[in-house]
Amino acid sequence: MTGSLGEEMAIKALKTGATDFVLKHRLATLPPAVHRALRQTEFRIQRRQAEEATRRKTEFLAVLGHELRNPMGAITTAVRVLTEASVDGSREAKQREIIGRQTRRLSALVDDLLDVSRVVSGKILLERRPVDLAEVARRCVESLEGTAAGRREIVLSVADEPLLVEADLTRLEQVVSNLLDNAVKYTPPHGRIVVTVARHGAEAVVRVTDSGIGIPNDMLPRIFEPFIQVSASLPRAGGGLGLGLALVRGLVELHGGSVTARSAGPDQGSEFEVRLPAIPKTTVPALPLPGRDGPSPPAQPRHVLVVEDSADVRDALRALLEVWGHHVEVAEDGPVGVEMARLNRPEIALVDIGLPGFDGYQVAERLRAAPAGRGVFLVALSGYGQAEDRRRALAAGFDVHLLKPVDPEELARVLAEMPASGGASRS
Ligand code: ADP
Repeated sequence: MTGSLGEEMAIKALKTGATDFVLKHRLATLPPAVHRALRQTEFRIQRRQAEEATRRKTEFLAVLGHELRNPMGAITTAVRVLTEASVDGSREAKQREIIGRQTRRLSALVDDLLDVSRVVSGKILLERRPVDLAEVARRCVESLEGTAAGRREIVLSVADEPLLVEADLTRLEQVVSNLLDNAVKYTPPHGRIVVTVARHGAEAVVRVTDSGIGIPNDMLPRIFEPFIQVSASLPRAGGGLGLGLALVRGLVELHGGSVTARSAGPDQGSEFEVRLPAIPKTTVPALPLPGRDGPSPPAQPRHVLVVEDSADVRDALRALLEVWGHHVEVAEDGPVGVEMARLNRPEIALVDIGLPGFDGYQVAERLRAAPAGRGVFLVALSGYGQAEDRRRALAAGFDVHLLKPVDPEELARVLAEMPASGGASRS
């Protein structure tokens, strides 16, 4: 219809405004009827793409609903069991375990959602330093020990010497553990998972190979796109939102690396390979990775102020701190929090960032500006965990920045390790 121009090229020319002189000239010579037909074709293509995007979004919402419903269902049932008068000690402990596990799962889902949107919009800032990739892999494998994953044979093969990359430790652990979690999820019990870390020329390479359900050839190029899952009918023991690999790719690329997937097809296992620029052998030593501490020693009783507007979060935090033996006061907004801190001089204040009245940053600034508030050890409770959120909190006067939902172990550690005289080091 478009003669030598070709339909596809003509549509491209229409779309780009035909900056190419020859293309523009050829387009101008087409009869108006052909122009109209081209515009209709272009419109059809755009409509098809929009329909495909809508379909994927609808599908994703269905998967999201399903993934949220499962843990919420388990929690609701467990809470109901706990309210029964006849519940015995061992049942009670079991239900508590369920609530803990499923709540962690809900938090992980929400973290993935937020992380993917940050990666896509380029809002993730890396805090890079020399990190030993072999040590990261070792720790990710160790963290699976004693879990249900342990029924699979997990083999780790790393060189004896450190393999350094310039990386953000938390994000690198996220990459390796996402690949490992998938290997576990898509490999039946008693299957085999092999993790190797090696230097290949100027690159550090980590490979996760499994003997699991494999990936069909036509899906291999697509599985790194957000929301893509091979098939809802495949066994997906651990569930998921189809975001893990999109996150892996986004984070690896932010580090200047690449990730690829290979599989000989269904039931033939899969292999994921991450390549990162390695730091040459002779330069800097790796900084020691922060230890994965065991439970902290119990803190001495503290005078704690909790400033939090959500009544349930406030009450739960108060209950937790009181059962740990601390003396707790609460405030439900910024102005009351500042006033109580001035009058009652707590040793530590846990302050929500998103508060009515004025926000947590303003609470910290006002407290640090007054003599009575300078000695308080200030902990920010924030829904935002990026490097710049942490920096902003510290700049406002906080001593520590904790991400919500607050991990009780982390809170216990902060209470145990804070200076004996609160935040007095600042006064
Ligand atoms: P999720 O696991 O939450 O569905 P991911 O983004 O991590 O999402 O993975 C996308 C899809 O890629 C998965 O749904 C699964 O179909 C496929 N996949 C990922 N890892 C493996 C693996 N090790 N073996 C087989 N299939 C895999």
